Amino acid sequence: MELPDPVVVKDLAEALSVSHAEIINVLIRNGIFATVNQSIDFDTASLVAGELGMEATLRGAAERAAADAAGEQELVKPGSAEEGDGKPTLWTDEDPSKLVTRAPIVTVMGHVDHGKTSLLDAIRETKVADRESGGITQHIGASEVVHNDQRIVFLDTPGHEAFTAMRARGAQVTDIAIIVVAADDGVMPQTKEAIDHVRAARVPMIVAINKVDKPDAQPDRVKQELADNNVLIEEYGGDVIAVAVSAIKRTGIDDLMEMILLVADLQNLKANPDREAIGTIVESKVDKGRGNVATVLVQTGTLKVGQIVSVGRTWGRVRALNSASGKRVTQAEPASAVEIIGLQGLPEAGDILRVVADEKTARDIAEAADRAAAGGDGQKVSTLEEISAQIADAEVAELRVVLKTDVQGSLGAIRHALERLNTDEVRINILREGAGDINESDINLASASDAVVVGFNAKPDVGALRAVDATGVDVRLYDVIYKLTDDIGQALKGLLAPKLVEQIEGHAEVRMVIKAGRAGNVAGSYVTDGRILRGTDARLFRGETLIADTRITSLKRFKDDVREVAAGYECGIGLDADDIAEGDVIECYQMVAESA
Ligand code: GDP
Repeated sequence: MELPDPVVVKDLAEALSVSHAEIINVLIRNGIFATVNQSIDFDTASLVAGELGMEATLRGAAERAAADAAGEQELVKPGSAEEGDGKPTLWTDEDPSKLVTRAPIVTVMGHVDHGKTSLLDAIRETKVADRESGGITQHIGASEVVHNDQRIVFLDTPGHEAFTAMRARGAQVTDIAIIVVAADDGVMPQTKEAIDHVRAARVPMIVAINKVDKPDAQPDRVKQELADNNVLIEEYGGDVIAVAVSAIKRTGIDDLMEMILLVADLQNLKANPDREAIGTIVESKVDKGRGNVATVLVQTGTLKVGQIVSVGRTWGRVRALNSASGKRVTQAEPASAVEIIGLQGLPEAGDILRVVADEKTARDIAEAADRAAAGGDGQKVSTLEEISAQIADAEVAELRVVLKTDVQGSLGAIRHALERLNTDEVRINILREGAGDINESDINLASASDAVVVGFNAKPDVGALRAVDATGVDVRLYDVIYKLTDDIGQALKGLLAPKLVEQIEGHAEVRMVIKAGRAGNVAGSYVTDGRILRGTDARLFRGETLIADTRITSLKRFKDDVREVAAGYECGIGLDADDIAEGDVIECYQMVAESA
């Protein structure tokens, strides 16, 4: 497909029909930190497309040459401080010659009581090489083991909640997922959930068939049940590796390690140790005596004691680092988990950590993140109307659906009806289907995958409603099949797009014009009514004459970037217009959905 250069991360996700999270994950894996609203260059975008199995070509090569000639430079290189939160800080200059193989990061998932915790214990006890701290491994939320001189990092939080919560926030740290299935119990609801999540995240999986020591163990039944759920293990002609283990008897652990290393090898995991670190927080707590303590999984670069880091909405100077084996270390290389002490606040799991040049930069980034959070500027999951609008604009070619029905019997019929709506251009991707109430896990899967939830005679339960509130996932409930297929069919044709109407937000009077060079003109203004919003459309009037219909590119109160300025206040409005004069009036407006 054709992509512009540069391309906004959000737009790239739409063009490739994958979730924002997926793009961000690939970027992070390649050592590039960007949020959904930031731009990346074409080369990076085509690399991302390539990793997702798609091919990208450059749109408007001529335009690009012109832009280059004009000296446009969208990308900021590492080490340079961010200017407010308008411009991205990207690490697009990862030097391929400096990339070295890194350890895989593994998450263990599966049904309750199938032995996730026992398996992690077994792995730790048999495989942790460094026993200097008296044989007791520190609980820091992740552990490192060594097999055949190769490191493997395990995230200690079993289950898919943590995995999904992180994915919903755009962080993906897992390279390989182990699905634990008890041989005496088989594939259970949470096994299926785990499989759905791992699939949606496109993370390779290995199945550990556990409890094979039990007399009533039926590993073959497990394999069959996996096949029934479209997980084809090698023995059945598929490509998913399955290993028989007993966490209690400590058997099969070495085989499992071998297989993890094999899958890791195929993934060709690389990172550059010789650069500023970027990582993801996996756990955090307030500790008596030590203050804010967080475990970070360093994904690229080397994190060192003494460095200044920005972490989500907080920051700090690295006072001390503790390894998973409880040892004080002075630095942490890529794919290692360390406890970090010295943060000003408590970060959340999924927050990104990165090394910055100085305290001021760290503070600025934290404040910008705070503002973004307050403004609800996070990743937003699309409504069916929004997806339809994207389809109409040929930005996406897929509608992702989580489908729930009251009874198993109606599932097949509805799936069939939905699949009939597929066209050459657009198709429906059913991420999960099942009978029963719509639950929290359905909402979380949809949220992490930018999908809509469709219920046929199925209602959301209390947990689901709470999750809908938190995530804004679009849940569509139907009790008549043709209404369901009508809506989805309209959406696929791009006809469900909301009708947009203009909404005038407010006016400001220009009191002084400041030429800001390459950044355009800034109008020192006074808001006379309503409000002025950054990033919205604006008209510039001189008397009755419309001078320009343009955009508000920046908005400042004194030196601070702000999202909004109310009537009665002065502000600096950056306008994408050449001709601005004292006394002009700026009219700020937005296009909004008619119903809103
Ligand atoms: P989790 O909920 O998936 O973390 O499961 P646990 O690790 O807590 O294990 C649940 C129960 O299964 C515990 O009573 C374990 O002792 C038992 N268990 C776990 N692995 C094995 C195994 O390999 N063999 C047997 N016989 N029991 C196991």
